[in-house]
Amino acid sequence: MADKKSLGILGGTFDPIHYGHLLAAEWVGEAFGLDELVFIPAARPPHKDPSGVINGQHRYRMVALAIEDNPAFSVSSLELERSGYSYTIDTIRHYLQSDPQLDIRFIMGVDALQLIYTWKDVAQLIGLCRFIVVTRPGYELDRADPVFATVPEELWDRIELFSIPGLEISSSEIRRRAAAGRSIRYLLPPAVADYIEKNHLYRNETNDQHD
Ligand code: ATP
Ligand code: MG
Repeated sequence: MADKKSLGILGGTFDPIHYGHLLAAEWVGEAFGLDELVFIPAARPPHKDPSGVINGQHRYRMVALAIEDNPAFSVSSLELERSGYSYTIDTIRHYLQSDPQLDIRFIMGVDALQLIYTWKDVAQLIGLCRFIVVTRPGYELDRADPVFATVPEELWDRIELFSIPGLEISSSEIRRRAAAGRSIRYLLPPAVADYIEKNHLYRNETNDQHD
């Protein structure tokens, strides 16, 4: 029998995708020998004000452009197609329905771990996948840090902290720079920077970039 297939999932708003996301996926994929990595843009992230997020098509296309040269990476519109909020547990269940043996690793930055206690059905999630939590500048990658007091004890058995080179890049900083007409080169792949420029994304609030 073939080995269980392993899948890394990186969820996020990707508004826009940048080198921080790509480096996390690449390093985790290599270190954990994952067969595939899928980027899943969230439709209306429960933790963000939906009105501030640009429409899913733009975010999806930017991910597609960013990963086109990497055969192990793919992008899924699963959460964009589902109506209502995106919950990680629904996404994980979807993948397990088509392959119950799938070994799923959910990848996230350590900033996101602080909020995991607010996620839907965390207790069930623990039994369905494992978590790889990576370096994010400005946050301690250390279980003893007081900000992690909210992380349920049982969850720690399913979490691996994994150190990667810290890239101090965020989508919000890219949006701010683009809005101010400043350079966003070298923070994200050139094809994505071109896409932002051609579509005048993040420039103002009056065009049709929002959902
Ligand atoms: P925003 O500033 O809009 O919150 P972001 O840069 O944090 O955007 P998200 O789409 O919110 O990007 O993040 C998706 C996932 O990628 C989260 O798990 C987040 O922790 C992780 N991530 C984002 N940027 C980095 C980075 N520079 N290094 C490591 N992980 C990152
Ligand atoms: Mg974020």
